[in-house]
Amino acid sequence: MEQIPCDEPNPYQVACQQLDIVAAHMKLDPDILELLKHPKRTLIVSIPVRMDNGHIKVFTGMRIQHLDAFGPFKGGIRYHPEVCLDEVKALAIWMSIKCAVVGLPYGGAKGGIICNPKEMSESELEHMTRRFTHEIIDIIGPYRDVPAPDVYTSAREMAWIYDTYSEAKGFAIPEIVTGKPISVGGSLGRREATSRGTVISVREAAKRMKLDLKNATVAIQGFGKVGYHAATLISEYGCKIVAVSDSRGGIYNPKGFDPKEVKKHKQKTGSVVGFQGTKKVTNEELLELPVDILIPAALENQILAGNAPRIKAKIIGEGANGPTTPEADEILYKNGVFVVPDILANAGGVTVSYMEWVQNLTRESWTEDEVNNKLEDRMVAAFDEVYKVHQQEKVHMRTAAYIVALKRIAEAITDRGIFP
Ligand code: NAD
Repeated sequence: MEQIPCDEPNPYQVACQQLDIVAAHMKLDPDILELLKHPKRTLIVSIPVRMDNGHIKVFTGMRIQHLDAFGPFKGGIRYHPEVCLDEVKALAIWMSIKCAVVGLPYGGAKGGIICNPKEMSESELEHMTRRFTHEIIDIIGPYRDVPAPDVYTSAREMAWIYDTYSEAKGFAIPEIVTGKPISVGGSLGRREATSRGTVISVREAAKRMKLDLKNATVAIQGFGKVGYHAATLISEYGCKIVAVSDSRGGIYNPKGFDPKEVKKHKQKTGSVVGFQGTKKVTNEELLELPVDILIPAALENQILAGNAPRIKAKIIGEGANGPTTPEADEILYKNGVFVVPDILANAGGVTVSYMEWVQNLTRESWTEDEVNNKLEDRMVAAFDEVYKVHQQEKVHMRTAAYIVALKRIAEAITDRGIFP
Protein backbone atom coordinates (compact mmCIF):
# COMPACT_ATOMS: atom_id res chain seq x y z
CA MET A 1 0.00 0.00 0.00
CA GLU A 2 1.16 3.49 -0.80
CA GLN A 3 3.00 5.18 2.03
CA ILE A 4 4.47 8.65 1.87
CA PRO A 5 7.53 9.46 4.01
CA CYS A 6 6.83 12.27 6.45
CA ASP A 7 8.55 15.65 6.15
CA GLU A 8 11.14 16.43 8.79
CA PRO A 9 10.80 17.01 11.63
CA ASN A 10 8.75 13.81 11.82
CA PRO A 11 5.51 14.73 13.65
CA TYR A 12 5.39 11.45 15.61
CA GLN A 13 8.94 12.08 16.86
CA VAL A 14 7.86 15.60 17.82
CA ALA A 15 4.85 14.22 19.76
CA CYS A 16 7.12 11.70 21.55
CA GLN A 17 9.64 14.45 22.33
CA GLN A 18 6.84 16.57 23.85
CA LEU A 19 5.76 13.59 25.97
CA ASP A 20 9.38 12.98 27.10
CA ILE A 21 9.86 16.61 28.14
CA VAL A 22 6.73 16.66 30.25
CA ALA A 23 7.24 13.15 31.65
CA ALA A 24 10.69 14.18 32.91
CA HIS A 25 9.33 17.40 34.39
CA MET A 26 6.42 15.79 36.24
CA LYS A 27 8.20 12.49 36.96
CA LEU A 28 5.53 10.52 35.12
CA ASP A 29 5.54 6.76 35.65
CA PRO A 30 7.73 5.43 32.77
CA ASP A 31 5.20 2.64 32.13
CA ILE A 32 2.51 5.23 31.37
CA LEU A 33 4.93 7.10 29.09
CA GLU A 34 5.71 3.87 27.24
CA LEU A 35 1.98 3.21 26.78
CA LEU A 36 1.28 6.69 25.47
CA LYS A 37 3.90 6.41 22.74
CA HIS A 38 2.10 3.43 21.21
CA PRO A 39 -1.33 3.89 19.65
CA LYS A 40 -3.73 1.08 20.53
CA ARG A 41 -4.71 0.26 16.95
CA THR A 42 -3.67 1.14 13.39
CA LEU A 43 -5.73 0.12 10.39
CA ILE A 44 -4.46 0.73 6.85
CA VAL A 45 -6.89 0.03 4.02
CA SER A 46 -6.99 0.06 0.24
CA ILE A 47 -9.85 2.08 -1.19
CA PRO A 48 -10.64 1.21 -4.82
CA VAL A 49 -12.63 3.92 -6.60
CA ARG A 50 -13.96 3.88 -10.15
CA MET A 51 -12.90 7.29 -11.35
CA ASP A 52 -14.88 9.44 -13.80
CA ASN A 53 -12.64 8.20 -16.66
CA GLY A 54 -13.93 4.64 -16.10
CA HIS A 55 -10.69 3.31 -14.59
CA ILE A 56 -10.11 2.13 -11.04
CA LYS A 57 -7.72 4.02 -8.81
CA VAL A 58 -6.73 2.57 -5.45
CA PHE A 59 -6.23 5.06 -2.62
CA THR A 60 -4.63 4.30 0.74
CA GLY A 61 -6.55 5.20 3.88
CA MET A 62 -5.65 4.92 7.53
CA ARG A 63 -7.30 5.19 10.92
CA ILE A 64 -5.21 5.29 14.05
CA GLN A 65 -6.77 4.89 17.49
CA HIS A 66 -4.46 6.06 20.22
CA LEU A 67 -6.05 5.79 23.64
CA ASP A 68 -9.44 4.82 25.03
CA ALA A 69 -8.92 5.23 28.76
CA PHE A 70 -11.90 7.59 29.18
CA GLY A 71 -14.31 6.52 26.44
CA PRO A 72 -14.62 6.28 22.65
CA PHE A 73 -11.83 7.35 20.32
CA LYS A 74 -12.40 10.72 18.68
CA GLY A 75 -10.65 12.52 15.85
CA GLY A 76 -10.85 13.95 12.37
CA ILE A 77 -10.16 12.54 8.92
CA ARG A 78 -7.65 14.35 6.70
CA TYR A 79 -7.55 14.20 2.89
CA HIS A 80 -4.16 15.31 1.60
CA PRO A 81 -1.69 14.14 -1.09
CA GLU A 82 1.14 14.01 1.46
CA VAL A 83 -0.62 12.67 4.54
CA CYS A 84 1.73 10.15 6.15
CA LEU A 85 1.35 7.49 8.82
CA ASP A 86 3.55 9.15 11.44
CA GLU A 87 1.65 12.41 10.95
CA VAL A 88 -1.66 10.65 11.61
CA LYS A 89 -0.09 8.91 14.63
CA ALA A 90 0.99 12.29 16.05
CA LEU A 91 -2.41 13.81 15.36
CA ALA A 92 -4.05 10.89 17.22
CA ILE A 93 -1.76 11.42 20.24
CA TRP A 94 -2.52 15.15 20.24
CA MET A 95 -6.25 14.36 20.17
CA SER A 96 -5.88 12.22 23.32
CA ILE A 97 -4.00 14.99 25.08
CA LYS A 98 -6.46 17.65 23.89
CA CYS A 99 -9.54 15.74 25.07
CA ALA A 100 -7.89 15.32 28.48
CA VAL A 101 -6.97 19.04 28.69
CA VAL A 102 -10.63 20.04 28.31
CA GLY A 103 -11.89 17.05 30.31
CA LEU A 104 -13.92 15.26 27.61
CA PRO A 105 -14.75 11.54 28.00
CA TYR A 106 -12.86 10.62 24.82
CA GLY A 107 -9.50 9.29 23.72
CA GLY A 108 -7.68 10.33 20.57
CA ALA A 109 -7.83 9.00 17.03
CA LYS A 110 -7.12 10.35 13.57
CA GLY A 111 -7.66 9.24 10.00
CA GLY A 112 -6.26 10.12 6.64
CA ILE A 113 -6.49 9.28 2.95
CA ILE A 114 -3.60 9.94 0.57
CA CYS A 115 -5.40 11.81 -2.21
CA ASN A 116 -5.60 15.23 -3.80
CA PRO A 117 -9.19 16.36 -3.30
CA LYS A 118 -8.57 19.46 -5.44
CA GLU A 119 -8.15 17.20 -8.47
CA MET A 120 -11.16 14.97 -7.77
CA SER A 121 -14.82 15.37 -8.73
CA GLU A 122 -17.55 15.38 -6.11
CA SER A 123 -18.66 11.95 -7.25
CA GLU A 124 -15.13 10.51 -6.93
CA LEU A 125 -14.80 12.02 -3.45
CA GLU A 126 -18.18 10.57 -2.45
CA HIS A 127 -17.26 7.07 -3.64
CA MET A 128 -13.89 7.26 -1.90
CA THR A 129 -15.43 8.47 1.39
CA ARG A 130 -18.14 5.81 1.37
CA ARG A 131 -15.73 2.97 0.56
CA PHE A 132 -13.30 4.18 3.26
CA THR A 133 -16.19 4.16 5.76
CA HIS A 134 -17.02 0.62 4.69
CA GLU A 135 -13.38 -0.49 5.09
CA ILE A 136 -13.09 0.86 8.64
CA ILE A 137 -16.67 0.03 9.69
CA ASP A 138 -15.63 -2.67 12.19
CA ILE A 139 -13.51 -0.32 14.26
CA ILE A 140 -15.74 2.79 14.31
CA GLY A 141 -19.08 3.28 16.06
CA PRO A 142 -20.87 5.75 18.33
CA TYR A 143 -19.35 4.07 21.41
CA ARG A 144 -16.10 3.03 19.70
CA ASP A 145 -14.68 5.73 17.50
CA VAL A 146 -16.44 8.87 16.28
CA PRO A 147 -14.79 10.61 13.27
CA ALA A 148 -14.99 14.32 12.42
CA PRO A 149 -13.70 16.74 9.74
CA ASP A 150 -10.09 17.87 9.37
CA VAL A 151 -8.00 19.32 6.53
CA TYR A 152 -9.90 19.14 3.20
CA THR A 153 -12.91 17.34 4.68
CA SER A 154 -16.10 19.06 5.80
CA ALA A 155 -19.77 18.59 6.73
CA ARG A 156 -20.38 17.09 3.26
CA GLU A 157 -17.99 14.15 3.86
CA MET A 158 -19.43 13.65 7.36
CA ALA A 159 -22.94 13.32 5.87
CA TRP A 160 -21.64 10.58 3.52
CA ILE A 161 -20.03 8.73 6.45
CA TYR A 162 -23.26 9.00 8.46
CA ASP A 163 -25.31 7.69 5.55
CA THR A 164 -22.95 4.82 4.68
CA TYR A 165 -22.67 3.68 8.30
CA SER A 166 -26.43 3.92 8.85
CA GLU A 167 -27.25 2.01 5.65
CA ALA A 168 -24.86 -0.78 6.68
CA LYS A 169 -26.46 -1.07 10.12
CA GLY A 170 -30.03 -0.69 8.86
CA PHE A 171 -31.12 2.39 10.80
CA ALA A 172 -30.12 6.03 11.29
CA ILE A 173 -27.16 6.47 13.63
CA PRO A 174 -26.25 10.20 13.54
CA GLU A 175 -23.99 9.83 16.58
CA ILE A 176 -21.44 7.91 14.44
CA VAL A 177 -19.83 11.14 13.27
CA THR A 178 -19.68 14.83 14.24
CA GLY A 179 -19.36 17.99 12.17
CA LYS A 180 -22.41 16.90 10.13
CA PRO A 181 -24.73 19.31 8.31
CA ILE A 182 -27.44 20.75 10.63
CA SER A 183 -30.10 18.99 8.49
CA VAL A 184 -28.89 15.54 9.65
CA GLY A 185 -28.14 16.21 13.30
CA GLY A 186 -25.15 18.53 13.17
CA SER A 187 -24.87 20.96 16.06
CA LEU A 188 -25.45 24.66 15.78
CA GLY A 189 -22.13 26.36 16.45
CA ARG A 190 -19.95 23.40 15.35
CA ARG A 191 -18.86 25.07 12.09
CA GLU A 192 -17.17 27.95 13.94
CA ALA A 193 -16.36 26.03 17.15
CA THR A 194 -12.64 25.41 16.60
CA SER A 195 -12.04 29.04 15.69
CA ARG A 196 -14.29 30.33 18.46
CA GLY A 197 -12.23 28.33 20.95
CA THR A 198 -8.99 29.67 19.46
CA VAL A 199 -10.25 33.24 19.69
CA ILE A 200 -11.45 32.75 23.29
CA SER A 201 -8.01 31.41 24.25
CA VAL A 202 -6.24 34.29 22.48
CA ARG A 203 -8.55 36.73 24.28
CA GLU A 204 -7.67 35.15 27.65
CA ALA A 205 -3.96 35.30 26.77
CA ALA A 206 -4.31 38.98 25.77
CA LYS A 207 -5.87 39.74 29.18
CA ARG A 208 -2.85 38.19 30.93
CA MET A 209 -0.44 40.04 28.59
CA LYS A 210 -2.37 43.32 29.07
CA LEU A 211 -2.73 43.55 25.30
CA ASP A 212 -5.75 45.55 24.17
CA LEU A 213 -7.49 43.62 21.38
CA LYS A 214 -8.93 46.84 19.94
CA ASN A 215 -6.80 47.58 16.87
CA ALA A 216 -4.41 44.70 17.67
CA THR A 217 -3.00 43.33 14.39
CA VAL A 218 -3.49 39.70 13.40
CA ALA A 219 -1.85 37.40 10.82
CA ILE A 220 -3.49 34.07 10.03
CA GLN A 221 -1.79 31.23 8.15
CA GLY A 222 -4.40 29.07 6.39
CA PHE A 223 -7.76 30.38 5.23
CA GLY A 224 -9.87 27.22 5.47
CA LYS A 225 -12.49 26.30 8.04
CA VAL A 226 -10.37 27.27 11.05
CA GLY A 227 -8.49 30.25 9.57
CA TYR A 228 -11.50 31.96 8.01
CA HIS A 229 -13.76 31.79 11.06
CA ALA A 230 -10.88 32.80 13.34
CA ALA A 231 -10.50 35.91 11.17
CA THR A 232 -14.16 36.92 11.35
CA LEU A 233 -14.56 36.09 15.07
CA ILE A 234 -11.41 37.91 16.22
CA SER A 235 -12.45 40.93 14.12
CA GLU A 236 -15.52 41.20 16.39
CA TYR A 237 -13.15 42.21 19.21
CA GLY A 238 -11.87 45.12 17.12
CA CYS A 239 -8.72 43.36 15.91
CA LYS A 240 -7.35 44.22 12.47
CA ILE A 241 -6.65 41.31 10.12
CA VAL A 242 -3.52 42.35 8.23
CA ALA A 243 -2.37 39.07 6.65
CA VAL A 244 -3.86 35.71 5.63
CA SER A 245 -2.64 32.87 3.42
CA ASP A 246 -3.54 29.57 1.81
CA SER A 247 -1.57 26.83 0.06
CA ARG A 248 -0.80 29.23 -2.85
CA GLY A 249 0.66 32.04 -0.72
CA GLY A 250 -0.36 34.96 1.43
CA ILE A 251 -1.47 38.60 1.35
CA TYR A 252 -0.51 41.54 3.57
CA ASN A 253 -1.81 45.04 4.15
CA PRO A 254 -0.69 46.70 7.42
CA LYS A 255 -3.86 48.82 7.38
CA GLY A 256 -6.04 45.69 7.53
CA PHE A 257 -8.82 44.26 5.34
CA ASP A 258 -12.20 42.55 5.59
CA PRO A 259 -11.84 38.73 5.70
CA LYS A 260 -15.37 38.31 4.31
CA GLU A 261 -14.32 40.16 1.13
CA VAL A 262 -11.18 38.01 0.94
CA LYS A 263 -13.37 34.90 1.10
CA LYS A 264 -15.43 36.14 -1.86
CA HIS A 265 -12.19 36.71 -3.78
CA LYS A 266 -10.99 33.18 -2.90
CA GLN A 267 -14.30 31.69 -4.02
CA LYS A 268 -13.94 33.47 -7.38
CA THR A 269 -10.23 32.88 -8.02
CA GLY A 270 -9.33 29.82 -5.92
CA SER A 271 -6.87 31.70 -3.67
CA VAL A 272 -6.54 34.67 -1.32
CA VAL A 273 -3.59 35.83 -3.44
CA GLY A 274 -4.32 38.88 -5.59
CA PHE A 275 -6.90 40.43 -3.24
CA GLN A 276 -7.12 44.18 -3.94
CA GLY A 277 -4.90 46.51 -1.96
CA THR A 278 -2.63 43.80 -0.61
CA LYS A 279 0.97 42.82 -1.17
CA LYS A 280 1.87 39.19 -1.84
CA VAL A 281 3.85 37.42 0.90
CA THR A 282 4.98 33.83 1.21
CA ASN A 283 3.67 31.54 3.94
CA GLU A 284 7.10 31.78 5.62
CA GLU A 285 7.13 35.60 5.47
CA LEU A 286 3.63 35.77 6.96
CA LEU A 287 4.84 34.09 10.14
CA GLU A 288 7.50 36.77 10.69
CA LEU A 289 5.36 39.86 10.08
CA PRO A 290 5.29 42.62 12.73
CA VAL A 291 1.89 41.71 14.24
CA ASP A 292 0.47 41.40 17.75
CA ILE A 293 -1.23 38.05 17.21
CA LEU A 294 -0.31 35.12 14.97
CA ILE A 295 -2.76 32.29 14.30
CA PRO A 296 -1.31 29.30 12.46
CA ALA A 297 -4.33 27.50 10.94
CA ALA A 298 -2.83 25.26 8.25
CA LEU A 299 -0.44 22.35 8.80
CA GLU A 300 2.33 21.05 11.11
CA ASN A 301 5.98 22.18 11.29
CA GLN A 302 5.64 25.88 10.54
CA ILE A 303 7.49 27.44 13.48
CA LEU A 304 10.89 25.77 13.80
CA ALA A 305 14.19 26.54 15.53
CA GLY A 306 15.26 28.41 12.37
CA ASN A 307 12.45 30.98 12.17
CA ALA A 308 11.29 31.10 15.84
CA PRO A 309 13.82 33.84 16.77
CA ARG A 310 12.32 36.05 14.02
CA ILE A 311 8.70 35.76 15.20
CA LYS A 312 7.47 39.20 16.25
CA ALA A 313 3.95 38.33 17.45
CA LYS A 314 3.26 38.71 21.17
CA ILE A 315 0.67 35.92 21.19
CA ILE A 316 0.44 32.79 19.06
CA GLY A 317 -2.91 30.96 19.12
CA GLU A 318 -2.43 27.56 17.52
CA GLY A 319 -5.54 26.84 15.48
CA ALA A 320 -3.54 24.21 13.56
CA ASN A 321 -2.27 20.99 15.09
CA GLY A 322 1.47 20.69 15.59
CA PRO A 323 2.64 23.99 14.03
CA THR A 324 5.50 24.48 16.53
CA THR A 325 8.42 22.16 17.32
CA PRO A 326 9.77 21.67 20.87
CA GLU A 327 12.99 23.57 19.97
CA ALA A 328 10.94 26.51 18.71
CA ASP A 329 8.80 26.39 21.88
CA GLU A 330 11.88 27.02 24.02
CA ILE A 331 12.99 29.96 21.86
CA LEU A 332 9.53 31.56 21.90
CA TYR A 333 9.24 31.09 25.66
CA LYS A 334 12.61 32.75 26.26
CA ASN A 335 11.62 35.61 23.94
CA GLY A 336 8.42 36.22 25.88
CA VAL A 337 6.04 35.11 23.12
CA PHE A 338 2.89 33.72 24.73
CA VAL A 339 1.96 30.51 22.90
CA VAL A 340 -1.50 29.06 23.45
CA PRO A 341 -0.75 25.48 22.34
CA ASP A 342 -2.89 23.52 19.86
CA ILE A 343 -4.06 21.05 22.52
CA LEU A 344 -5.80 23.98 24.24
CA ALA A 345 -6.26 26.62 21.52
CA ASN A 346 -8.07 24.39 19.00
CA ALA A 347 -9.93 22.21 21.53
CA GLY A 348 -13.16 24.11 20.80
CA GLY A 349 -13.73 21.84 17.80
CA VAL A 350 -13.77 18.57 19.69
CA THR A 351 -15.63 20.23 22.57
CA VAL A 352 -18.58 21.11 20.35
CA SER A 353 -18.22 17.75 18.57
CA TYR A 354 -18.80 16.23 22.00
CA MET A 355 -21.89 18.43 22.38
CA GLU A 356 -23.13 17.26 18.96
CA TRP A 357 -22.62 13.62 20.00
CA VAL A 358 -24.50 14.18 23.29
CA GLN A 359 -27.37 15.89 21.44
CA ASN A 360 -27.55 12.98 18.98
CA LEU A 361 -27.42 10.30 21.69
CA THR A 362 -30.18 12.02 23.69
CA ARG A 363 -32.15 13.08 20.57
CA GLU A 364 -32.09 16.67 21.76
CA SER A 365 -31.07 19.84 20.00
CA TRP A 366 -29.62 22.85 21.73
CA THR A 367 -29.74 26.48 20.64
CA GLU A 368 -26.64 28.14 19.25
CA ASP A 369 -26.42 30.32 22.37
CA GLU A 370 -26.52 27.24 24.63
CA VAL A 371 -23.69 25.64 22.64
CA ASN A 372 -21.60 28.82 22.52
CA ASN A 373 -22.08 29.49 26.24
CA LYS A 374 -21.05 25.96 27.18
CA LEU A 375 -18.02 26.28 24.90
CA GLU A 376 -17.07 29.62 26.45
CA ASP A 377 -17.28 28.12 29.97
CA ARG A 378 -15.21 25.05 29.09
CA MET A 379 -12.54 26.97 27.22
CA VAL A 380 -12.12 29.57 29.96
CA ALA A 381 -11.99 26.88 32.66
CA ALA A 382 -9.37 24.90 30.72
CA PHE A 383 -7.34 28.04 29.99
CA ASP A 384 -7.40 29.06 33.68
CA GLU A 385 -6.32 25.60 34.80
CA VAL A 386 -3.42 25.46 32.33
CA TYR A 387 -2.39 29.05 33.08
CA LYS A 388 -2.23 28.26 36.79
CA VAL A 389 0.15 25.33 36.16
CA HIS A 390 2.17 27.54 33.75
CA GLN A 391 2.71 30.04 36.58
CA GLN A 392 3.18 27.55 39.42
CA GLU A 393 5.63 25.32 37.59
CA LYS A 394 7.32 28.12 35.59
CA VAL A 395 6.90 26.24 32.31
CA HIS A 396 5.44 27.34 28.98
CA MET A 397 1.76 26.78 28.26
CA ARG A 398 2.32 23.61 26.17
CA THR A 399 4.13 21.85 28.99
CA ALA A 400 1.49 23.13 31.42
CA ALA A 401 -1.33 21.77 29.23
CA TYR A 402 0.44 18.39 28.95
CA ILE A 403 0.83 18.27 32.74
CA VAL A 404 -2.92 18.83 33.20
CA ALA A 405 -3.73 16.17 30.59
CA LEU A 406 -1.17 13.56 31.62
CA LYS A 407 -2.28 13.67 35.25
CA ARG A 408 -5.84 12.82 34.16
CA ILE A 409 -4.71 10.16 31.69
CA ALA A 410 -2.28 8.52 34.13
CA GLU A 411 -4.97 8.34 36.80
CA ALA A 412 -7.46 6.74 34.41
CA ILE A 413 -4.93 4.18 33.11
CA THR A 414 -3.84 3.32 36.65
CA ASP A 415 -7.42 2.94 37.88
CA ARG A 416 -8.40 0.71 34.94
CA GLY A 417 -5.22 -1.37 35.08
CA ILE A 418 -3.69 -3.27 32.20
CA PHE A 419 -5.64 -6.17 30.71
CA PRO A 420 -5.36 -9.12 31.33
P1 NAD B 1 -9.19 23.26 5.80
O1 NAD B 1 -8.99 22.19 4.81
O2 NAD B 1 -10.54 23.83 5.94
O3 NAD B 1 -8.16 24.47 5.55
C1 NAD B 1 -6.78 24.25 5.43
C2 NAD B 1 -6.14 25.55 4.96
O4 NAD B 1 -4.73 25.39 4.96
C3 NAD B 1 -6.53 25.96 3.55
O5 NAD B 1 -6.69 27.35 3.51
C4 NAD B 1 -5.32 25.55 2.73
O6 NAD B 1 -5.17 26.33 1.56
C5 NAD B 1 -4.22 25.84 3.71
N1 NAD B 1 -2.99 25.12 3.39
C6 NAD B 1 -2.84 23.85 2.95
N2 NAD B 1 -1.55 23.58 2.74
C7 NAD B 1 -0.87 24.69 3.08
C8 NAD B 1 0.50 25.04 3.09
N3 NAD B 1 1.42 24.16 2.72
N4 NAD B 1 0.83 26.29 3.53
C9 NAD B 1 -0.12 27.16 3.91
N5 NAD B 1 -1.42 26.89 3.92
C10 NAD B 1 -1.78 25.68 3.51
O7 NAD B 1 -8.69 22.65 7.18
P2 NAD B 1 -9.06 23.14 8.66
O8 NAD B 1 -10.13 22.26 9.18
O9 NAD B 1 -9.22 24.60 8.69
O10 NAD B 1 -7.74 22.71 9.44
C11 NAD B 1 -6.61 23.57 9.59
C12 NAD B 1 -5.79 23.12 10.78
O11 NAD B 1 -6.62 23.16 11.95
C13 NAD B 1 -5.24 21.70 10.71
O12 NAD B 1 -4.00 21.64 11.37
C14 NAD B 1 -6.27 20.90 11.51
O13 NAD B 1 -5.75 19.68 12.00
C15 NAD B 1 -6.57 21.90 12.60
N6 NAD B 1 -7.83 21.66 13.32
C16 NAD B 1 -9.01 21.63 12.64
C17 NAD B 1 -10.19 21.41 13.35
C18 NAD B 1 -11.54 21.43 12.68
O14 NAD B 1 -12.54 21.36 13.40
N7 NAD B 1 -11.63 21.54 11.38
C19 NAD B 1 -10.14 21.20 14.73
C20 NAD B 1 -8.91 21.26 15.39
C21 NAD B 1 -7.77 21.49 14.67
